[in-house]
Amino acid sequence: APRKLAAGNWKMNGTIASLAEVETLMREHGSARCEILICPPATLVHPMVERAGQGVVAVGGQDCHAKDSGAHTGDIAAEQLRDAGAVYVIVGHSERRADHGETDAAVSAKAVAAHRAGIASVICVGETEAQRDAGQTLDVIARQLAGSVPDCATAANTVIAYEPVWAIGTGRTPTNEQIAEVHAAMRAALVARFGDGAGFRLLYGGSVKPSNAAEIFAIADVDGALVGGASLKASDFGAIIAAL
Ligand code: 13P
Repeated sequence: APRKLAAGNWKMNGTIASLAEVETLMREHGSARCEILICPPATLVHPMVERAGQGVVAVGGQDCHAKDSGAHTGDIAAEQLRDAGAVYVIVGHSERRADHGETDAAVSAKAVAAHRAGIASVICVGETEAQRDAGQTLDVIARQLAGSVPDCATAANTVIAYEPVWAIGTGRTPTNEQIAEVHAAMRAALVARFGDGAGFRLLYGGSVKPSNAAEIFAIADVDGALVGGASLKASDFGAIIAAL
């Protein structure tokens, strides 16, 4: 089985002072069995890499542009993230899809850009509450996976995160059976499309916290978590890491 991944997405939170949380994490979880990743805002990528050194905590971006450089005010190229020391980038988070109209094709192009720059992508998929209520969850996930995961994806350069939109920041989570159903379907789709589909790490994200982490990590085909709010404090994220 692949090494489990505890990934934190700080979203639009954090300042230089927040880097103290990373130092606490490194001090207290330096010998964690799982891989630890934090994706802070772009302003903190390089300062965080400097604090984390070659150590325990890997650093990633939260988005990248599909192009390598050019006239794209406000955007960041994957190569620039790599230059700052990032080794991962999240693409296709539902907040990017909703706030910036990112389509599956756009997300796929971003993942290709990440791989071209030599960094791994964390590709996010997830249904809305209306889609779940309409019984469309597995269709939506299959469509997003097919469209957002590029042909160049491998188990080494791609992690998939299942984040139901209605579970993000709400304190609500799917049942264990619902998570297991989606993860099994994602695994089957990856195995069907890629020879090494069995090796892709599949993260669950959406209201993961210290009190539910252990039971979520025990579900088949859950290889880690993508954590938002609970990744901001070393105490909470540390407890989630310890549950992996
Ligand atoms: P929360 O953990 O705050 O629900 O956020 C999940 C998420 O969107 C991580 O990318």
